[in-house]
Amino acid sequence: MNDQEEDDESENFWGERPPLDFLLENFGRFFQDHDLDHPIIELHPPTPFNGSPMVPAQAILGSSVSNHGSIVHKKSIRIVAQEAKDRFSRQYSGSKVMRRKSTKMWGSRLAEVESGKAMDQSRQGIYQHPQSGTIKTFQYLKGGLIGRGSFGKVYHAFNLDTCEMIAIKQVDLPQTLSERNCDRLKTSVEALFSEMEVLKDLDHENIVQYLGFAQNEETANIFLEYVSGGSIESCLKRSGPFPEAVIRSFTRQILLGLEYIHSKKIVHRDIKAANVLVDEQGICKISDFGISKKNAQSQGGYDEDVGSLQGSVFWMAPEMVTSKAYGAKVDIWSFGCLVLEMFTGQQPWKGFAPQQALFTIGSSSAHPPIPESISEEGQRFLGRCFITDANQRPTAADLLQDPFAVPPANFNFNDYIEGKITD
Ligand code: ATP
Repeated sequence: MNDQEEDDESENFWGERPPLDFLLENFGRFFQDHDLDHPIIELHPPTPFNGSPMVPAQAILGSSVSNHGSIVHKKSIRIVAQEAKDRFSRQYSGSKVMRRKSTKMWGSRLAEVESGKAMDQSRQGIYQHPQSGTIKTFQYLKGGLIGRGSFGKVYHAFNLDTCEMIAIKQVDLPQTLSERNCDRLKTSVEALFSEMEVLKDLDHENIVQYLGFAQNEETANIFLEYVSGGSIESCLKRSGPFPEAVIRSFTRQILLGLEYIHSKKIVHRDIKAANVLVDEQGICKISDFGISKKNAQSQGGYDEDVGSLQGSVFWMAPEMVTSKAYGAKVDIWSFGCLVLEMFTGQQPWKGFAPQQALFTIGSSSAHPPIPESISEEGQRFLGRCFITDANQRPTAADLLQDPFAVPPANFNFNDYIEGKITD
């Protein structure tokens, strides 16, 4: 198969967001600025999977002895990527869906390997920090742009120490006086720092895993697990409304993620299809916590607290629009809007101007129109998400008990990828 055919195949399945094995197989296309045949140095080869040797002897370009007396193997980036691909295939082949976990790097030093340069041996392994003492260094390659959000850019990246594909969310730091006074730049930097603070302790299958943070003079960077497939919004744009079985599977997973963050007293405040990523196994991950808020006084996130108007207008709950105190129930309303998006393939309040939608939600506590074509179970479920009185609106844990939040027993996401979702 030539490159073009491979390209077409990835386009058919996931548009510009191919599955992880495709990415590893076609590493060079996503890391175009790097010379893949350049030798990089690896001080501690990753643990072989199942005890089998990970690198054929001929793949090692050379060996030498470091200043510390350990053997240093030299391998090219191409070989390291191939190892990662082989490891991935062994670990995740077969039908069993396993949770993929990327290595967390909080508290470590994160060093970028610049294009065409060898890994800096002096920066590898353990580093003696003047204040913090001994800390580990991870070295990574930065690849091509995945996409832009309102607050920054997201890039492909590869952790050279663990052979894991990851993503970097990067925000430019103000350099000049006028940039330091620019509100837009200030907001992006604040959003990134706030996102990092909220997320560093979270660990759940349905939340994008935040792995670490690094800052230099020009940029601030959050390291994230890489989620192939793109957002639910981009999948909807490509495939149109989802079949109900897929909606119910996604509904359950997003509710599990919401139940988890609410139990940690975190209100997301921007739940919508664009902010939930899906990987190639159909696992949903809530992302983009830039405007989330920790409700420290609350018992479980659901207590009301004074808050500002935040988020995306069409997904906003009445209590937020009317500037009342609000809690995590605003996420439940927005989640109802997201379920509606999956049924219709369109954003809520389609055809309304933002001011008109704000006025309608604020003055009559109306919810977005629900098409009659939606199944009875679906309509009932949406009705519960859109209960006007936040105190009466169910929690994520309540909604998990709803029959709609249980996918059919024989549900297999791959059937939909191979059939309906790619139509
Ligand atoms: P906004 O910030 O305006 O709400 P957004 O949600 O698209 O927009 P980001 O979260 O910055 O903004 O994401 C930018 C792009 O990067 C999006 O296309 C998103 O799908 C993609 N992306 C974000 N995080 C990851 C990740 N961990 N893995 C893969 N792609 C990601």
